[in-house]
Amino acid sequence: MRRHLTLLLVALCATLSLSAQTGNREVKAAAAEAYAQKQGSYTPSFTHDGKKTRVHNVILMIGDGMGQGAVNAAMYANGGELTMTNLHTIGFVRTQSADNFTTDSAASGTAYATGQKTNNGFLGKNPARETIANIPEILAPQGYACGVLSTDDLNGATPAAFFAHQDSRNAKEGIWADLPNSQLDFASAGAQAVFVSMPISTQEAIRRRFTVVYDPRDPAVRNSQRLLYLPPSVDGKDRGPYLPQTTEMAIDYLSARGKKGFFLMVEGARIDKHEHSNEFPETIRETLDFDKAIEAAIRFAEQDGHTLVIISADHETGATILNRADPETGHAYGIFASKSHTPMMVPLFAYGPHSLEFAGVQENSDVARKIIQLLGRK
Ligand SMILES: [Zn+2]
Repeated sequence: MRRHLTLLLVALCATLSLSAQTGNREVKAAAAEAYAQKQGSYTPSFTHDGKKTRVHNVILMIGDGMGQGAVNAAMYANGGELTMTNLHTIGFVRTQSADNFTTDSAASGTAYATGQKTNNGFLGKNPARETIANIPEILAPQGYACGVLSTDDLNGATPAAFFAHQDSRNAKEGIWADLPNSQLDFASAGAQAVFVSMPISTQEAIRRRFTVVYDPRDPAVRNSQRLLYLPPSVDGKDRGPYLPQTTEMAIDYLSARGKKGFFLMVEGARIDKHEHSNEFPETIRETLDFDKAIEAAIRFAEQDGHTLVIISADHETGATILNRADPETGHAYGIFASKSHTPMMVPLFAYGPHSLEFAGVQENSDVARKIIQLLGRK
């Protein structure tokens, strides 16, 4: 009888210590399989890559949550190739915020937009809550046309960092109300329904500053001074090729308007959202969609010769790991060890003149400082 009880206790202790161990982890590893239809990739000539010639235009492409795991998974599911991994200049970006070892998109977006680190949750403000200038505010007065494009809502932290100044990324109405006071010439993000839910005074102030269209073929686009294009939806299931097509549209729009050149930020926002919910196929789908937008930017840089394209991420999400893949069939098998952001460095790819200045390990705030310095040269 006593022996039975002892065995029972041993078994009970073993079970308890096992659950205590797994309880310490953020999540039990969640695994999933994905299949991707190959979409190919584009390889530019590298004629102007790394040259010390003048940079007229910068296209900064931010894959939200796009760490090594997302890039590897998308690349191998796509037959082993991506346009971004065809590029020669590679770096890493450290993403820590001013008050947290693991950043959120607001602090990292602000670092990319202003060259200064701030606290998680802050947009366009330093840790002392003082307003700090973003790239459009610095470059527009020098003759550069500026734009943002995202598959998030326009009040999402990454696009908002390039036009808003708010203590909280959740100040949705305040963020939209900052838009008419911004230095943006072009903005496109989600969505019509969000815009019309804003106070009438905010909508009117935005309409006084921007021509607002819901369709890129709207004839009002042609003669507009500044454009806000709001698609019906930015959701991955129903937006179609919105991101690559609007990247082309934004480049056309800004290059026709900038006296000296342009700055464009393009965000692939939904890689992060699917990593938060540990959805592996959707993580790959969104990374591949972002790579098509990268292709549009690289094709323009290739023919222009004075355009620098920088591709990176605001942080890693999901502790996303590619565990197995078969590039021949497009099957990939992944594991997530987290449902949150992680502090791991994110990859950076660059193409065009002065691309080599972005090689090596750098802070997210360094990327903005280098952009401002390159375009601010007389
Ligand atoms: Zn996130």
